[in-house]
Amino acid sequence: MDANHQELLRKYAEAIVKVGLNLRAGQRLIITNATSRGVPPAGRALVHEVTKAAYAAGARYVEVIWGDEEMNRIRVQHAPAESLGEYPKFHVNAILDMFKNGDALLSIYANNPDVYAGLDPERLSAMQKSHLQNYQEISMLVSRNAINWCVVASASPAWAAKIFPDLNPEEAEEKLWKAIFESTRAVQPDPVAAWQEHIRNLKKRSDYMQSKGYSGLHYKGPGTDFTLGLPRGHKWISAQSLAENGVVFTANMPTEEVFTLPDRHRAEGTVSATFPLSYGGSLIEDFSVTFENGRIVKVHAKKNESILQKLVDTDEGSTRLGEVALVPASSPIAQRGHLFYNTLFDENASCHIAIGRAYRFTLTGGEELTEQEFVAAGGNVSINHVDFMIGSPQMDIDGIKEDGTREPVMRAGEWAFDV
Ligand code: ZN
Ligand code: ZN
Repeated sequence: MDANHQELLRKYAEAIVKVGLNLRAGQRLIITNATSRGVPPAGRALVHEVTKAAYAAGARYVEVIWGDEEMNRIRVQHAPAESLGEYPKFHVNAILDMFKNGDALLSIYANNPDVYAGLDPERLSAMQKSHLQNYQEISMLVSRNAINWCVVASASPAWAAKIFPDLNPEEAEEKLWKAIFESTRAVQPDPVAAWQEHIRNLKKRSDYMQSKGYSGLHYKGPGTDFTLGLPRGHKWISAQSLAENGVVFTANMPTEEVFTLPDRHRAEGTVSATFPLSYGGSLIEDFSVTFENGRIVKVHAKKNESILQKLVDTDEGSTRLGEVALVPASSPIAQRGHLFYNTLFDENASCHIAIGRAYRFTLTGGEELTEQEFVAAGGNVSINHVDFMIGSPQMDIDGIKEDGTREPVMRAGEWAFDV
């Protein structure tokens, strides 16, 4: 590692605690990872720096749940088929206890994107479905911003090798850390100040989109001719949110997106993915999705189409959309010129949409609605929320006004308006 590595890790951890979580003195903090049901061991150095930064910020108690993905892989391979729905809930209950107390939640990705490669899709999806079902209460609380929460990443050997297969393991990991530190502004002299400026700039974009009140967006690009509806009361969000526990926080680091919810009832046409989708340990490549009346009626993929189809078949909400996000093609993440095989990074390289659950906070008053009311208002409900990338330097996006007239929102992948 770079001689400076420890110092960069310290600055990164400080930005996570001060900007990402905005941890308040006296709060407790729990660190975990939803996908692997705990932080993989490769995240250890970052967990330790975050813990130090949290106590420096006045945390009362910091806890981590560790997760070992290899245990899940072994289980899918060797456990009895009828047992794959088994789900001891102790870690879920631990996290729910922190939610009830108004504590903070940090998720650290330090995973192996290919951990489930080659496994039987039926057995894998049985295990994943039971996990998503048992995790649903937490997903719901996160999706309504019940507490201040944040998702960040740590390099891991397997992840680095996936992104940089031609480098030796040490170089690959060093290069991944460099990418993480640069895209999260840890390399800036004052990362916290740099983040505050970035947050202000994103807010100007979301404020503009909000002031327009479009009723839909139309996308045109190679393999894409697609229209989605925006429900009345949709809220364009960027970087910062206010949690129900009163804390203003930044849920993702990095973040380059301006996003809201689409109307689950209105989506028409075909949209092509512009990046592969790393989903549940598999890579879905060269795919497109076709919609009618808001529903996915057809998926096509050159690789792993059956996994994409399984995702869509999970539940009714997985046939519909829950997020629409705008990211210029010139985003610093896109400029790195490689895929990260991880949504936290890849979604910030490109305009994207998400199959599945909508975030309650993207609809005015959405947190207070019953599930039925939320759905009636256009919000989507699902155990999934899976982003996939659709933007490119060839993409044009129009905003559609209530009267049907159109205005440019993006041209050739870039913002088409000044703020
Ligand atoms: Zn997004
Ligand atoms: Zn998303």
